[in-house]
Amino acid sequence: MRELFEKYLENRLAQARDSGLYRTLRAVDSFDGPEVELEGRKYISFASNDYLGLSRHPDVIAAASEAIGKYGAGAGASRLVIGDLAIHRELEKQIATFKGREAARVFATGYLANIGAINSLIKPGDAIVSDEKNHSSIIDACRLSGAKILVYRHLDMNSLREKLEEAKEFNNVLVATESVFSIDGDIAPVAETARLAKEFGAWSMIDEAHATGIIGASGRGSEELFDCTGEIDIVMGTFSKAVGSQGGFIAGSERLAEMMVNSSRTFIYSTGLAPAASASALESLRIMERAPELRERLFENVDFVNQVALKLGMRKTPSETPVIPLTIGGEAEAVKAFEMMKDRGLIVPVMRYPTVPMGEACLRISASTLHTTEHLEKLADGLAAL
Ligand SMILES: *Cc1c(COP(=O)(O)O)cnc(C)c1O
Repeated sequence: MRELFEKYLENRLAQARDSGLYRTLRAVDSFDGPEVELEGRKYISFASNDYLGLSRHPDVIAAASEAIGKYGAGAGASRLVIGDLAIHRELEKQIATFKGREAARVFATGYLANIGAINSLIKPGDAIVSDEKNHSSIIDACRLSGAKILVYRHLDMNSLREKLEEAKEFNNVLVATESVFSIDGDIAPVAETARLAKEFGAWSMIDEAHATGIIGASGRGSEELFDCTGEIDIVMGTFSKAVGSQGGFIAGSERLAEMMVNSSRTFIYSTGLAPAASASALESLRIMERAPELRERLFENVDFVNQVALKLGMRKTPSETPVIPLTIGGEAEAVKAFEMMKDRGLIVPVMRYPTVPMGEACLRISASTLHTTEHLEKLADGLAAL
């Protein structure tokens, strides 16, 4: 029996290898912000989502340590059983205020927040209208719901309108989009999305994984950027990107938060967020409010990378976010570019099919507040040599 199972695994892995889609982990021996050591060699990383360097901030580390001392390493139970800690409440209050909302609920991860929220609200007989470039966690949530899934062209409001027309025959309709897209770094027209959804009596949801702490005058996200705070019905995000910790959240009305406790299975059947993760996320959100210079420095670095990419003809327009993809084209070419950068001590991740369409492979640069002028100049030299 075991032999047959192992044979099955071997065949599946061989298939992945044959189609060039085999994936391997790379052990990180140590890291200090963008300086990482992999397999015994030092590199400068342009791959982390810790855009503001908050995972390393001394106040964040102190808050996490204090929470472990006070609560222990784990929450010990799901929130509804006996794991509803004061630190969770404080974090929920903080993120709700940060997003200009009545209330919020935190989840173990952003992935689980998307799965739990969408499935608590949307049932068979309903429809979800989804941007074609939405994150896998939204796609999986849509599939699990059993609702009709209507996919509109990326950022295209005419296509969204067409799909909303098609969705009219369904019961409840949800429009779901990322606000800052995780591969392309572009920004959805969130005010227009909210307006269109309302026009059709649909609900709107944004995934602010890469927007929280980054866009808008004080980093509160896309609603702040487009001056439409409160227009979106469901605001989802993570503490795992610019917040530098771990965990996900759903922010909205008091009733929405109440609904999560009553019918979101990933909230109900999962242990409360670890105290250290909760406390560090809380402290990071406070730092975002008191230290706007971290964002200012980040965007200086974004400008630098944009200038280099534009000069080398690797981008046509500057990216408005720290997610800066450089289109290479062919899969083999992109992998070669990745290897050339790596030889120079630079980690710039390559995005290939199925993450992006065939023939649109790219190198995706993630800029960070912690990148120094020296790091950025090495990147510029590496890109020029490609
Ligand atoms: C990373 C990411 C998630 C998942 O968040 P985790 O907290 O890492 O599980 C969801 N949506 C988008 C757009 C993301 O980039």
